[in-house]
Order: sequence, then C-alpha cells, then structure tokens
Amino acid sequence: MARAALITGSSGGIGADIALKLSQNGFKVFLTGRNESRLIEQAKKCSAIGYMAGDLSDDNFLELLFRSAKDKFGQIDILINNAGSYVWSPVEKTDKSKIDEIFRLNLQVPYKLCRLAVSDMKFNKWGRIVNIGSISGIVGEANASLYSASKAGLIGLTKALALELAEHNITVNLVNPGWVKTEMVEPLFTDGILDEAEQMDMIPQRRWIEPCEISALVNYLASEDARGITGQSINLCAGLSLG
Ligand code: NAD
Repeated sequence: MARAALITGSSGGIGADIALKLSQNGFKVFLTGRNESRLIEQAKKCSAIGYMAGDLSDDNFLELLFRSAKDKFGQIDILINNAGSYVWSPVEKTDKSKIDEIFRLNLQVPYKLCRLAVSDMKFNKWGRIVNIGSISGIVGEANASLYSASKAGLIGLTKALALELAEHNITVNLVNPGWVKTEMVEPLFTDGILDEAEQMDMIPQRRWIEPCEISALVNYLASEDARGITGQSINLCAGLSLG
C-alpha cells in the first residue's frame, strides 16, 4: 500500500522538489503552499492526490488543510514540515511583527501539525515526521537571530517527539540545509545584503546545496529502510556547520 505524505510549502523551492521526489518513489502526496497557480502546476507534475492553497499561520486554514488531506488519503502516514520563512535583520532593527510571524510559521505550525497527525500514526503503528530546519539553527547566523532561534527550536521538538513516539513505530527527524538557491534567499544576494562569493568562501565545498540533495534525504527518511533513524538532526550543508 502506498504511503501518504502531506508536504507543507510544496508550491515552490525545496518543498516542491520533495513532493516530486516522493511521488516518483511511489508515495501519495498532498501539496500545500500559498501560491495557488503554482501549487496547481506542481500538483499536476506530482500527480498529487490533492492540494490546498492558504496561509499556514491561520489556525482555521491549518485545521481545514489537515482534515482535507486526511479525507483524501484516509490517513496521513508522513508529515513533512517544510514551509518556513526567513528574515535578515540586526536584532535591534527587527520589526516587532516579525517575531510572532517567524516563530508561528517556523516552529508553531510544525508543532500544531504534529499534534494533529500523531493520533492516526499511533493507531496505525507507523509514521514518519521530517522537519526542515536550517544550518542557522545549528551554528547560529548573525543578523538572522529570529530565524536561527525558530529553527533551533525544531531540534528540541524533533528529539522530544522522537522519544515520545518511538514505541509507536513513528520516527521524527530534522534535516538542516545549508544555502539553497531558492526564492527565499535569492533576494539577499540580488539586493546586495549578502555577497555570494563571500558566502561561498565560508563553505568547505564552496557551493550551494541543490534541492534534489534534500529531497533524496527526505525520501530516504520517509522510507521503511530508515526505520532505525529517529530524533536525529542531520546537517546537509556542504560542510558549513564545520566552521
Ligand atoms: P521558498 O520560499 O522557495 O518556499 C517556501 C514555501 O513555503 C513555499 O511553498 C511557500 O508558499 C511556503 N510558505 C511560506 N510561508 C507560508 C505560509 N505562511 N503559509 C503557507 N505556506 C507558506 O523557500 P525554500 O528555500 O524552499 O525553504 C523551504 C524550507 O527550507 C524552509 O523551512 C526554509 O527555512 C528551509 N531552508 C532553506 C534554506 C535556503 O537556503 N533556501 C536553507 C536552510 C533551510
């Protein structure tokens, strides 16, 4: 029986690639993101079982999304908490509204979706939760303290849930990418906030991470073969975390 995966932030960037990879490997996928036309296009590419566009920060949407995915699938076996948002700002200049916004999307939304998803996983004695963190949550990133803090929170969530759910055959893991050229970070470089050559110089492999590298790892973590891996925080960063 094909396992069913709900992937947040799958209208573009890393999430779109994860959805495609899982669908190519026989998983049933349900997509969600904010941009409806892109979501429809991506859903077609993935032969998705369903999709729903909306803002995950809105609790009503979040619950509606969960119910719709569950109705389509019958059950959600795999939850990929990928949607996230970044803000570059020195701490004293950070817009106050961003504090709630970033913590809500990057940390509370994954928590809320886990809260909704685990009952069925426990009942079925099978589940996979993969959170997408960031290397910024591991090593800290100057002028991105809000983002770093929100992503560091996912480490605690991942470890605690892994412990709590291990006996139910549910694994919970965290993937921490380094720089990936997506719409989330491209403006940092095109607007001159960061210098690409300088950033690449700090990476031992001197390169960007490709979305396909992340989706391949997520695909593995979602598979039966990865049943022994839980509570892990895996850095996929071309060596950036090594300092
Ligand atoms: P992206 O901007 O290309 O894609 C983000 C996706 O999240 C989109 O589908 C968007 O619709 C969705 N999204 C954002 N805010 C949302 C909201 N409020 N409600 C619903 N959906 C929302 O970004 P990306 O680079 O693909 O990032 C994906 C994940 O990877 C994020 O969690 C990000 O923090 C993490 N990450 C990215 C990088 C990088 O360098 N790009 C590095 C480390 C970690």
